[in-house]
Amino acid sequence: MKVLVINAGSSSLKYQLIDMDTKTLLAKGLCERIGIDGSKLTHKNIVKKTETVFEKPMKDHSDAIAMVIDALISPDCGVIASMDEIGAVGHRVVHGGETFADSCIIDDGVMDAIRACVPLAPLHNPANIIGIEACAKIIPGVKQVAVFDTAFHQTMPKEAYMYAIPYELYQKEKIRKYGFHGTSHKFVSQEAAKFIGRPIEDLKIITCHLGNGSSVAAVKYGKCIDTSMGFTPLDGIIMGTRCGAMDPAVVTYLIESCDMTAQEVDDMMNKKSGVLGVSGVSSDFRDISKAAEEGNERAALAIDMFAYRVKKLIGSYVAAMGGVDVVVFTGGIGENDARYRLKITEGLDCFGIKVDPERNDVRGVEKDISSDDAKAKTLVIPTNEELMIALDTQRLLGK
Ligand code: ADP
Repeated sequence: MKVLVINAGSSSLKYQLIDMDTKTLLAKGLCERIGIDGSKLTHKNIVKKTETVFEKPMKDHSDAIAMVIDALISPDCGVIASMDEIGAVGHRVVHGGETFADSCIIDDGVMDAIRACVPLAPLHNPANIIGIEACAKIIPGVKQVAVFDTAFHQTMPKEAYMYAIPYELYQKEKIRKYGFHGTSHKFVSQEAAKFIGRPIEDLKIITCHLGNGSSVAAVKYGKCIDTSMGFTPLDGIIMGTRCGAMDPAVVTYLIESCDMTAQEVDDMMNKKSGVLGVSGVSSDFRDISKAAEEGNERAALAIDMFAYRVKKLIGSYVAAMGGVDVVVFTGGIGENDARYRLKITEGLDCFGIKVDPERNDVRGVEKDISSDDAKAKTLVIPTNEELMIALDTQRLLGK
């Protein structure tokens, strides 16, 4: 079976076509500026290693999906003979609230439930819904599956996900920790267990997804029991432009004493903070590292703050799980940057976590980087959220 994986944004749409018999990527691409002047589709045929750009107006997501299908079946740059070869579509959906603890085959009831989660993800869920509706219109009859960023974290116990604010706010407004990046944490924890050849049901795993957005999860015996992102992706680690966890009273102080509006504070915490805000250099960790090497003290501070926060989370999840067997690094930084992995794990040998500097000299491949005397394994596992979405789609359709 071939699965089309769709990640729809408000004016963009990313896709991958994956052959599930061989678990190989056949094609992928990106539609940009949907509904805006200058829309274009960049399509990559992975088999032939070609890239084709189509510059054509896309007034909405249905136009975008139609162009994606045309590209996939095109005699020049396509990878399939007809759209009948698409066995199913798997959609990334950001928020499944408390309704979805697993991926699910889409029907009218599921669509209503995804719509009911819009207040929790007002920027993302509406775009995901538009993507699903566009597929239903352009390739009717093809089964669609929704895979939620939040679902993997629904196994957290109540003491981990509740906030200590009046209980009615949880009951009425559903304010609680949800966690994000669930598809990635699920994928890399499963891959880690496979990699070391032990059942996930026996393992205490800490997964560190470190990218532009970052989160850490505690996966005990295959189930997430805690994670660092919260009601929104703003919580937890210091990120590219997000502040991560801080005293919530800073927000009211800024509004009451610094004449900022709630929207300005929100914008500041999401887009102007993190390593960008601290360093004043960039939100990209490669730029920050370079600036720090050239003697920029604020860039060095941003790195120290980032690594310290991840280290503290790892320690707290060892406590939460009563031990750790595996630490996984993934995401753009976790997969590629040896310096951050070393800095984060420094001093964690008290928990049996120790990285071998030579083995750590690696990027973008699955590898055991622990030293021989480490009790816990530290692994680099490249994430593949699209493959996880396709695997869930295949599992649910029983094919
Ligand atoms: P997103 O959260 O947008 O998916 P990514 O997981 O792609 O982000 O991570 C982006 C971050 O990873 C950037 O800060 C970038 O500096 C870092 N990164 C990506 N590739 C490398 C690399 N080869 N070496 C070091 N850092 C990298």
